Amino acid sequence: MFSEKELKREIIRVMKVLYERELISALGGNVSARMPNSKEIWITPSGIFKGDLHEEDLVKIDLEGNIIEGFMRPSIEWPLHVAIYKKRPDVNAVVHAHNPVTTGLAIAGIELEPITVEAVITLRKVPIVPYAYPGTDELAELVAKHIEGARALVLQNHGVIGVGYNLVEAETIVETLEEVALTQFVAMLASGKKKLRLIPYRDRELATRLYRM
Ligand SMILES: [Zn+2]
Repeated sequence: MFSEKELKREIIRVMKVLYERELISALGGNVSARMPNSKEIWITPSGIFKGDLHEEDLVKIDLEGNIIEGFMRPSIEWPLHVAIYKKRPDVNAVVHAHNPVTTGLAIAGIELEPITVEAVITLRKVPIVPYAYPGTDELAELVAKHIEGARALVLQNHGVIGVGYNLVEAETIVETLEEVALTQFVAMLASGKKKLRLIPYRDRELATRLYRM
């Protein structure tokens, strides 16, 4: 069993990776995580540089948004994070980033297709959440509605969300989203108007049964 200190270090590591991979800008994106079964979460702060956070920058809040520990203001997106934990007891980590290619495809009205094994197994079906202004209860409600049974969401005109049992799982989802989106974009550019060659339906069915999706 890992400790709360390790959980906080993991949050800082994930934010650094997201920044270095250009999936968030200096002030963008937010990450939260909790010890399994806990009703309190650690979340990144609002308004400071995200590429080099320190443990004392993180804020602990309960599922109503009350600050339990820490001196900074929690991310303005905290309503969206707690909405997911309330709806999904199996989720212990939420990663929100601004993946440019994934977000760009959604703006163009293009959904991600089963183009690679990762798209089929890691991401599965990726719903697109209609636009709502960041930080609002309206966005949190829309996210709660779409997160049922999903591992990844695209927020229209905004970014992406990955969830997981732990931070590595949620981080993998967000990185895979961008990898699949970029691969699909290249395939679309290279193929012109031709149809994309997807993973055969039979293999998708097999994966569904193997992973009980
Ligand atoms: Zn955002």
